[in-house]
Amino acid sequence: MITQQVKWDLRELFHSVNDPKINQTISEVIVLANEFEMTYRGKIVNLNADGLLQCIKSMESFQAKFGDITLFSSLSFSANMTIPLIQALHDKVNKLKASIRKQLAFYQLEIGILLNHNPQIIWEPVLHNYRHMLELVYRNVKHQLSEVEEQLIIEKDQFGVDAWKELQGKWLNTRMFDVTVLGEKKTLSYGEANGLLSHFDRTTRESANKSIYRLLGKDGEIFASALRNICNDWVNISKRRNYNSPMESSLISNDIEQEIIDNLLRTIEENAGIYRRYLKLKANLMDLPVLGNHDVVAPLPELPGLNFTFQKAQDMIIQAYNRFDTEYTTAVKEMFTKQRIDAEPRFGKRNGAFCASYYNGKSAYILNSFNGTLSDVFTLAHELGHATHDWYASRSQTLLNNDIPSIVAEIASIFGELLLTDLLLEEAKSDSERKALLCLVLDEAGMTTFQVTARVLFEQALYASIQNGEFLDYKTICNHWTVARNRIYGNAVTWFPEMEAEWTMKPHYYMANYRFYNYPYVYAQMFVYSIYGKYLQEGKAFVPKMKKALSAGSSLSPIEIGNIFDLNIAEPNFWNNGIKVFEHFIDNLQKMI
Ligand SMILES: [Zn+2]
Repeated sequence: MITQQVKWDLRELFHSVNDPKINQTISEVIVLANEFEMTYRGKIVNLNADGLLQCIKSMESFQAKFGDITLFSSLSFSANMTIPLIQALHDKVNKLKASIRKQLAFYQLEIGILLNHNPQIIWEPVLHNYRHMLELVYRNVKHQLSEVEEQLIIEKDQFGVDAWKELQGKWLNTRMFDVTVLGEKKTLSYGEANGLLSHFDRTTRESANKSIYRLLGKDGEIFASALRNICNDWVNISKRRNYNSPMESSLISNDIEQEIIDNLLRTIEENAGIYRRYLKLKANLMDLPVLGNHDVVAPLPELPGLNFTFQKAQDMIIQAYNRFDTEYTTAVKEMFTKQRIDAEPRFGKRNGAFCASYYNGKSAYILNSFNGTLSDVFTLAHELGHATHDWYASRSQTLLNNDIPSIVAEIASIFGELLLTDLLLEEAKSDSERKALLCLVLDEAGMTTFQVTARVLFEQALYASIQNGEFLDYKTICNHWTVARNRIYGNAVTWFPEMEAEWTMKPHYYMANYRFYNYPYVYAQMFVYSIYGKYLQEGKAFVPKMKKALSAGSSLSPIEIGNIFDLNIAEPNFWNNGIKVFEHFIDNLQKMI
């Protein structure tokens, strides 16, 4: 099977964009939303436990129905963004989503008021299934505004602070970059130039880096305006919502405590020397006195030309998962046999990779662009981990308990990558293949753990700066970035002066109302490394714990998920467990040098 034939089959959802069932389902969804509003608006605050249970169940069946249509529309659009019929459906469903969100905003608000009056209801046995979900709503109650205020925020953001993200995206997509690729001058789009940052040729990487960040830096004041206004807007909204800090909102949505994240970030910064040790080893492997910023994620020069067919990738991933447990591999196998993966690279398809859960199908869909590189195989193993998580959670939990926060959602995906790493290391035919593999693993984990921590430190510095009454112009923001970056990298990397503008291109800094997007990735990486350490110790006895954790969906808190593995994430030194596993990979690399 060649990758060109690997497209997903969406017919279990709808037959095509022309399927008359689509409009029929949309009409049913509108009727259901109206019925829900008529039944419950103004009445939730007076419900008893049985009434509340009924209300939550109605919301779940509404969302299950609506989920099919939003999933079909977003999958179709991601796979073929340039087809007018699909664009029209996508636009229609997006508008419907926005209007339903406004129409049903009262649901969450009224449950909040009910819990505020009667917090004991959370512990009523009849509501047992929803205990943790209600705890989270309760945690958010004191930050809720009135329905009208909430609607006003949605409306003013739409053409206000949300527009900064659009501006940043438009800037990136409308600029051209002059890059010298293997000695040949080329003018490239941002996507094309960005793809060269990990090119095997060092001079090409240097040219791409300098070209991208020089042009971004030239318009630095524009990006500074955007970021300054987004952060100041957030400071105001955080005060209105009574948050203790600009980070608190993200802590609540991640279902986690400040102290745990502080411990995590402190541990990473304290152990930055371990990452630097790897970067120095990599410099050695690349025959350089010290790495340049353009070498941090570069492939090794002697990287063997590993290339994989889609079939080979499928076989390897199934084998890697199977070594862990055969039942655990069921979802992975199904994703292939039920044609739930769209792997063909083609024009008009969304960049990157994702796994979207399909609750009604108790399954998922994966989109990626498979070009046969080792990194493509890892991406696939990662996304199939998400599909495995969905497979277990959707079988054990009702819909609202499948709303898994980012810090938990990456458990099975990163673990899946580790299973593949184990297999590939064992089967590698030469030391150079093994070195290349270990470097790939350490590059990725190093970025996710250490570079992303630098981004969190940077974001914290921006808010501290605002609190001190400092004006965030371009150079001030660049200074915050380089200081945060150097806290992690020390003298292990030298940076082009243009790299002070590195912060300008990260889209998530411009996402309004979604601050501190970063640390969940650090958390997930270190948590999974910790449980992987347990797996190495416990072997098969570990398998049921993993299944139990995935089956819990969002019905348990991250602390309770940790307890399943006999781990206490609230313990201040907990995160050293993950660091040890990172170090273990470095030790293995060192032995081969
Ligand atoms: Zn993921």
